[in-house]
Amino acid sequence: MPIQKQKLFFLLFFIFITNSLVAHSLTFGIFTYRNAQKVMSEYEPIATYLSKELNVTVVIKPLTQEELEDELNKGTLDIVATNPTHYLSLQKQHKTTGAIATLVKQHNHIYTANLGGVILTHSNRADIASLKDLKGKNIAIPGKKFLGGFLTQNYELLENGVDVSKDVTLLELGSHDRVVQAVVDGTVDAGFIRSGIYEELVEEGLLNPRDVSVVHEYMMDYFPLKVSTTLYPEWAIVAAKKLDVDIISKIAVALYGYVGEQKGNNVIVGFTIPGDYAEIDRLARALRIPPYEMAPDFTSKDIFQKYGNNISAIVIVIVLFIGALWSLYQKARREKMYAQSILNAAPNPIIIRNEQTIVSANTAFLELVQYDSLEAFKKEHNSISDFFEDGETDEYLRARMYDQSWIEYILSNPQTELKAKVNVGEKVKLYRVKASLLESKGDTYRVIVTFDDISLLVAQLTTDSLTKVPNKMHFDLMFKYALNIHKREAKPLSLIFFDVDYFKRVNDMYGHLVGDKILYDMAQLVKASLRKTDTVARWGGEEFVVLLPNTSLADAKNLAENLRVKIESKLFEDVGHLTSSFGVSEYLEGEKSTEFLERVDKLLYEAKANGRNLVIAR
Ligand code: GH3
Ligand code: MG
Ligand code: MG
Repeated sequence: MPIQKQKLFFLLFFIFITNSLVAHSLTFGIFTYRNAQKVMSEYEPIATYLSKELNVTVVIKPLTQEELEDELNKGTLDIVATNPTHYLSLQKQHKTTGAIATLVKQHNHIYTANLGGVILTHSNRADIASLKDLKGKNIAIPGKKFLGGFLTQNYELLENGVDVSKDVTLLELGSHDRVVQAVVDGTVDAGFIRSGIYEELVEEGLLNPRDVSVVHEYMMDYFPLKVSTTLYPEWAIVAAKKLDVDIISKIAVALYGYVGEQKGNNVIVGFTIPGDYAEIDRLARALRIPPYEMAPDFTSKDIFQKYGNNISAIVIVIVLFIGALWSLYQKARREKMYAQSILNAAPNPIIIRNEQTIVSANTAFLELVQYDSLEAFKKEHNSISDFFEDGETDEYLRARMYDQSWIEYILSNPQTELKAKVNVGEKVKLYRVKASLLESKGDTYRVIVTFDDISLLVAQLTTDSLTKVPNKMHFDLMFKYALNIHKREAKPLSLIFFDVDYFKRVNDMYGHLVGDKILYDMAQLVKASLRKTDTVARWGGEEFVVLLPNTSLADAKNLAENLRVKIESKLFEDVGHLTSSFGVSEYLEGEKSTEFLERVDKLLYEAKANGRNLVIAR
């Protein structure tokens, strides 16, 4: 019966299929963090237990992290035990369920579902006492994917200012045992291992505790193992996504019921509900490890990854803008420096001032006023005019010129040649002062003022070279100035003309050189007898004129008489006694200056005519 045969065939096939589903074995992949043998022996009792509880064959498979992922992809794994970071990665890749249980271990009868990292160094390394001491050191690690053997320490160091990626040299040795050996042998400065390994090795007689010391050790009552970092949840147990929910539940429930033999320290004694893996998440983000190697923790790196192009454009614009500003600033600074250098190169004092104060000055100016800096000068003075001294003519600037400040006076009298007599510390210098407007706006302005030292020139031009008193040209200016003041202030102004008597004889008898010396001595004698405001000048030959501002006829007459006696009494070298004749008068209102001069000159000749050595005042 073909149909019957067919039915039987399908029935057998169906039984086969369902049987294979129900009575299949479960493959339990374990991350091999030490060696496969150790892992096998550790998980064998758990596999046996689960096999019995679930009524299936549970097969242990020690694998690397890559192999675990590979097998999950192929669908050849059902349960996985791995470290928390790897678990996190698996979960984000949607390869497994969330943690269904967390491992519990015991040490000296204290149970813990946590793990941490240990930093070991040789006990003779007194130089490595804190995390910072690890900077620049060689550090052995089992591998970069090990949570307790690398990542926990890495994070702890990062939090304490040591960047493992830059500040230390890492040596990946593949296993914890080799790391410990390297530390003991002194081939590395330090080593990172997972918590529990230390105790395990000591117990197995593979490590002498006196050979090593733990760096940055945390002391916690509830954690029985040596640890150098904060604690994280122990390994997670996850299930492959393909498994039915009820099978997963059965596995979880079975795991929670497991009671391991307490045959040694650091062995699995049970499983508990999943720990808080959020802490691991933070670590993973900070260390940029999978699943966050490209990831969205809110850092500048992430922003750049997401908005890189826009940011680049903005950054370029900002950089260009700042660059342009900077170069403008530099250019302005350079130009200011050049301007100052040019000012400083000038031998004469130069200032730039506005309507209120001096804004810059050159070194020649500072030398003149004897200050180290413009700031120092400005602390004590507002203007150079503090040093101006009244001159004998109207060409000399005073702090205030009539109703204007000196600077405004210069600006409003551009045609006038102006001078300043500057008196700093007893040293009087004469300057031709020029001002040019740099800019002006309303009441504000900026003006450059130059001071040409004309002391020597003025001295040469205005002084009679023989007698060293003012010459006629200078007298003319002073006379004009005195007349102006007289008109303004209504004060008397007098003049004395005097001429040496019989001087021709002196030349004839003693020669011109002796005559010259007499003229010099005579001028100096008179000069020494005058007030500061009076001036004796050489009119020509052996004739002199004395300008007496603010002096009445009577006073002038007395002075002339005084001079006459002084000359008469003096014993001139080689020559002996000499006399002079004097004409004296006061300026009359409305008189022309030339008329006044002629009048006084005539009085002098009247004195000559009347016997010489005489003063005629009228
Ligand atoms: P009086 O009393 O009339 O003034 O007689 P005086 O001889 O002084 O008059 P006079 O004008 O005849 O002579 C002036 C002389 O002064 C002529 C000249 O030899 C002399 N003299 C004029 N200037 C100088 C000068 O610069 N140096 C010298 N050594 N002699 C001068
Ligand atoms: Mg004479
Ligand atoms: Mg004469």
